[in-house]
Amino acid sequence: MDADKKRTKKSTIEDKLRERRKELLVKRLGIEESWRNLHLSEIELTEKATNEYLAAGLSQLDAQDKEKIEAIDRALARLQADIYDICESCGEVISARRLEAVPWTTLCRDCAEEREQGARLTGPGAEIEEETE
Ligand SMILES: [Zn+2]
Repeated sequence: MDADKKRTKKSTIEDKLRERRKELLVKRLGIEESWRNLHLSEIELTEKATNEYLAAGLSQLDAQDKEKIEAIDRALARLQADIYDICESCGEVISARRLEAVPWTTLCRDCAEEREQGARLTGPGAEIEEETE
């Protein structure tokens, strides 16, 4: 019974991770498209500074998405190793609700909160917090 339950949960999380990964990759492709357009318009643009500013913004976006994709890949590897619900920091079990909300998380709620208090600069959307346990 329990093993069956766990397997279902695992595949649900895997589906979510793969779905999210696909979304990010599609978004990245869109960004790469913008890059190409940027390079094309570079010929016409005389304001090189503006162009460089735009390029910096795009590459930053790209890096953020890359980070997210890497986090998802890590989570998928954790799924495969069957340690997907073990907190990387304290070794406690990450609640199913939290995993459903943030399937790529590697930290339990307590550790994530602790980390967030230490670094509030991660920005919105870095972690979705549960309301109640
Ligand atoms: Zn923890």
